[in-house]
Amino acid sequence: MAFSCFYKSKKNTAIQLTIIPVKKFKTWLETASTEIQNRVQSELFHAASGQFLKLSDKEGNLSQVIWCVEADDMWALATLCDHLPALEYKIEDPFECIDSELYYLGFGLGAYQFHSYKSQKTKKHMKLFLPSEYAQVEKTLRAVYLTRDMINTPAEDMGPADIAHQAQKLAQTFSAKFSEIVGKDLIKAGYPGIYTVGRASTRAPRLIQLSWGKEEHPHVVLIGKGVAFDTGGLDIKAASGMRLMHKDMGGAANTLGLARLIMDKELPIRLTMMIPAVDNAISGDAYRPSDIITMGNGTTVEVSNTDAEGRLILADVLHHSSHLNPDMMLDFATLTGAARVAVGTEMAAFFCNDKKLTKHLNEAADKTQDPIWQMPLFPQYKKLLNSHVADLKNAATVPYAGSISAALFLEHFVKKGTSWAHFDLMGWNVSNLPGRAIGGEAMGIRAAYQMLEEKYKH
Ligand SMILES: [Zn+2]
Repeated sequence: MAFSCFYKSKKNTAIQLTIIPVKKFKTWLETASTEIQNRVQSELFHAASGQFLKLSDKEGNLSQVIWCVEADDMWALATLCDHLPALEYKIEDPFECIDSELYYLGFGLGAYQFHSYKSQKTKKHMKLFLPSEYAQVEKTLRAVYLTRDMINTPAEDMGPADIAHQAQKLAQTFSAKFSEIVGKDLIKAGYPGIYTVGRASTRAPRLIQLSWGKEEHPHVVLIGKGVAFDTGGLDIKAASGMRLMHKDMGGAANTLGLARLIMDKELPIRLTMMIPAVDNAISGDAYRPSDIITMGNGTTVEVSNTDAEGRLILADVLHHSSHLNPDMMLDFATLTGAARVAVGTEMAAFFCNDKKLTKHLNEAADKTQDPIWQMPLFPQYKKLLNSHVADLKNAATVPYAGSISAALFLEHFVKKGTSWAHFDLMGWNVSNLPGRAIGGEAMGIRAAYQMLEEKYKH
């Protein structure tokens, strides 16, 4: 797929988008033509961050845009787009003041539109010249577009089997191995949590698996929560809480996006991707509050709330995956509302049992402007999961530390010594942000990819 927001062969007709750091504006203006100097004066142009000045040629056509920037904000260009006509532009950065790769990426992400269900297609968007040295930006765009498209697709068209189909298509594109375990076979295979949560739906639960890369390379496992639609189960959600629950496969969509990026950029790792995919539905066969599930590792879990289903489908996958002794294991899940209370909707919360990995993830998040924030695996809170009748209950019954107790539940199933990070993310923009329209969103995977690339690409 080519991105229509970019063009790749130089055109003399392109409008120059000249980026000037606020601090350098005065110096730059002294070297500019008299015409520009006069315009700046007559327009009372004030060089502040985000301010721009449109210049025209003799025929009155837009020929150049002078744009002042301050901080290195990758979304700045997406903001500017809203104020410029949908023509062809070319960036000029005489002071080399921006991280061009991030600017092109922010621009490309801003051009995203989800119109699969609209009879009126694409609204016109400005085009930008993409120099060949930044061609890699398109790989990141493809990954994020995949994630957004999957989340934006209604649950009717993005059920457990459709999520599997997305993984299968990806496997075909990159010659990876695809397999799945469906329905009752999950019990025999050691994934009773996935089966129990998903059995109420007419759309069978499944574990989607993809493997890629060479045996001798470091082994990285990616896991994503794929709840195609979360009604809450018998502990049914209120209408307001259910409205967005087609996004509860956001972890799976982020995992697929990250897997795509890894394979597209041919990172020398051995990749295993595991996605438990279910509907948390309501029917006569739905699992009940107070049921006790014997999980794949033998742990008995009392169901204190059927709406805490994500951890039940992830637990067995974490158990089996960590027993493959991978070099690293990352999971992505729209797991708790409590994580949104803690860090809001614009960054992913993450938990990590490995100090070095934590530090590396934080640095990578800064570099990629993909914000994440660490939360504690505070062991004292594990008592919140104590059950009178089973080894654990799936959800704490006090209203505190909900994302932490969920992470501690997951940690119970991770083999000791496994380097593991768990991302609890929103996967959705609740309002329009520069470059990030309302709807499905990738969160944390650009940071995770950066970390993986720095660690494993030599
Ligand atoms: Zn739920």
